Amino acid sequence: MQYAPTVIDMATGILYIVSTPIGNLEDITLRAIRVLKEVGIIAAEDTRHTRKLLSRYEIHVPLTSYHDFNKYEKAEVLIAKIKEGINVALVSDAGTPGISDPGYYLIKRAIEEGIRVIPIPGATALTAALSVSGLPTDRFSFIGFLPKKRTARDKTLKTLSTIEHTLILYESPYRVLKTLNEIREIFGERKISVARELTKFHEEVIRGKISDVINNLGSHPKGEIVIIIEGKREEEVDHET
Ligand code: SAM
Repeated sequence: MQYAPTVIDMATGILYIVSTPIGNLEDITLRAIRVLKEVGIIAAEDTRHTRKLLSRYEIHVPLTSYHDFNKYEKAEVLIAKIKEGINVALVSDAGTPGISDPGYYLIKRAIEEGIRVIPIPGATALTAALSVSGLPTDRFSFIGFLPKKRTARDKTLKTLSTIEHTLILYESPYRVLKTLNEIREIFGERKISVARELTKFHEEVIRGKISDVINNLGSHPKGEIVIIIEGKREEEVDHET
């Protein structure tokens, strides 16, 4: 079997998109550890957070911050470093960079600049949550976070309610009950699965009808949450058409 090379002898460096754990620090691949050890710079959303992972695996590579508030300027700095021949690894606070985090902008800029971008696959909350949801996995849409403004949220939810395949949403613990109530109002009673704190000590997956899940979640759910919603069933679609 041929593996994608990790170090290429070219004048320009490489941007590695390295997936890191979504909780349990053991959820990292051997290749990710090796690449993180080999690059010249690691760009991280929160350097203090990433330092814990790096010290666990004895990775001693300079860290720099790349987050939502500095992404435009920092992307250019990182691109200049890559053009000087330095390999850069991008990591996020959890999971796969670019999935509902600022990674997308740097990846897009690097591609525009003709830089080689190599994925180092691994954990991501959306597939972990989907895999244990018990809802159809053959076709699904990843929605990420819903818009925060009321009108945009309503509009998005109305559109989503007509989709016939499984939907995956990210949500904060502070908004999850409000969001589930809005979903029930617009979608009606559907099957859902709420995955909380995956791979962590308080990992929990609550499956069932929306009302039952709301009751089981309690009044102050905590931690990181993924909501999986069953698609619109055929009989509902037929009924409407
Ligand atoms: N890049 C990440 C990925 O690959 O999944 C997602 C980053 S996004 C800023 C953070 C959101 O991911 C959280 O609000 C939550 O919805 C979800 N998430 C991350 N870790 C999780 C976990 N351990 N359990 C459940 N959801 C998680």
